[in-house]
This record gives sequence, C-alpha cells and structure tokens, in this order.
Amino acid sequence: MDGMAMSQYRKILVAIDLSEDSTAVVMRGRTIADYDHAELHLIHVIEPLSFAYGGDIPMDFSGIQEEIQQQATQQLRRFAESNKIDLAHQHLVLGKPEVEIHAKAKELGADLIVVGSHGRHGLALLMGSTANGVMHGASCDVLAVRVGIEK
Ligand code: AMP
Repeated sequence: MDGMAMSQYRKILVAIDLSEDSTAVVMRGRTIADYDHAELHLIHVIEPLSFAYGGDIPMDFSGIQEEIQQQATQQLRRFAESNKIDLAHQHLVLGKPEVEIHAKAKELGADLIVVGSHGRHGLALLMGSTANGVMHGASCDVLAVRVGIEK
C-alpha cells in the first residue's frame, strides 16, 4: 500500500437526524467518499419514547412508536434515494444515537464518522450534543460538519 492509499478513507458512516441539515451533512460525506473511492453508509437512530418518558408515566407508547418507526423508515429511504445510497448502505437502528452510531461504525469497520454540529453556546453547549457524544469515545475519525449556525 502506498502512502496515498493509506491516507484515504475506505468506509464512511454519515449520521443523520433526518432534519433539513441532513443534506449538508451527507454532501460532505459524499464529497470525501468520491474523492477517496470510499463506501458511503447512512445511519439514523430512533430514540424509543420510553427513553424520554422512562417509566414516569404509565402509558403504552407502542402504537406511536410503530408510527414513528414507519415514518423514519420512509424518510430514510427517500433521503438515501435522492443521495444515491443503496438499501444495503442504509441503517435504521433503535437506541441512543451516540451509542448506536459507535456500534454501527465498529460493526462496519468504518474509518470516518460524519455528523452535523450546531454552533451552540452557553447552556446548550454545557448540556452536550450528539456530535460531542459521538466525538468522545469514537475509535475512528469524526468529522463535525457545521450546520444551522445560530446568529
Ligand atoms: P444534535 O447534537 O442532536 O443536534 O445532532 C447533531 C448531529 O448528530 C446531527 O446532524 C446528526 O449527524 C447526529 N444525530 C443526531 N440525532 C441523530 C439520530 N437520531 N440519528 C443519527 N444521527 C443523529
């Protein structure tokens, strides 16, 4: 392997929250993937409602949860299609975003994770973000793409 090949990424995992920022994030991943001849993968993590309302409210969320999962599946499909990413490279997982993004990166043997990062400050920054969570403890490179910068 020559020096050039060693500095190239081979598998890139782009994490998207399916918000409007996702296009900017995947476009960065696509640019690097094209340049490096790398595989491009997409992941979206669905956070179970029970995480947010953990046991405090005695409610059955299963119907709503299913609805959310169906919506997310369709949105991810559509998004991937318009960005020319085939089905085998689309990953929809249930869990905590940073945990699942790390797990998928390991499983795939990804050498770059691409996330979006808001220009947060103050309290919002203290409380942390998914981008921070992904950065900490990642076993490969992480690219934080600035999105939705607040003025
Ligand atoms: P946040 O810090 O939560 O605003 O998210 C910033 C970035 O983290 C997003 O642009 C995505 O790259 C990633 N992210 C957040 N939530 C998810 C999710 N549910 N699934 C996959 N990636 C996510």
